[in-house]
Amino acid sequence: MAVRPILPASNPLLRQKAQKVKRFDNSLQKLVADMVETMHAAHGLGLAAPQIGESLQVIVVWLPPEQDEAGRVVRGEKLYTLVNPEIVKTSPETVVGEEGCLCLPHYYGQVRRAAAVIVKGRNPQGKEVKIKANGLLARALQHEVDHLRGVLFLDRLESLESLHYVEPQQGVQEPGL
Ligand code: ZN
Repeated sequence: MAVRPILPASNPLLRQKAQKVKRFDNSLQKLVADMVETMHAAHGLGLAAPQIGESLQVIVVWLPPEQDEAGRVVRGEKLYTLVNPEIVKTSPETVVGEEGCLCLPHYYGQVRRAAAVIVKGRNPQGKEVKIKANGLLARALQHEVDHLRGVLFLDRLESLESLHYVEPQQGVQEPGL
């Protein structure tokens, strides 16, 4: 496993449509391992393969453990890995929320997303999987699938004025995708 460099938003590879994965082999497993390690090193909640320079349809999303008001963990952390993901259903309801991207560190903006989605794809072993998502998971999946189509969150900003810089030393931990 290795932490890989994350491309800046200006890199043209991020504007390409990623290739479908055809072989669920060792090199795919290594790519997934690198993506998970790179995502965690960058304190991200999600990563798509093109963000580390691999034009392949692979995404990972990580949700931290959920705690109640008393600080008790009510749900453990969750890691989703999807190969060749496709959003097969989106809710008519949309929601506007703050979003950032690991390719444009410390910048956040308001993006409208479907409130809920159903995503189909395969796991790294090639088995078909289907995820029903809402909340942060739905937002993260839409953001990462966009990366596979050459779309950045900057293209979906509610307004350019909503884009703002958050000083990293302020300790505001906003999720990057
Ligand atoms: Zn991103």
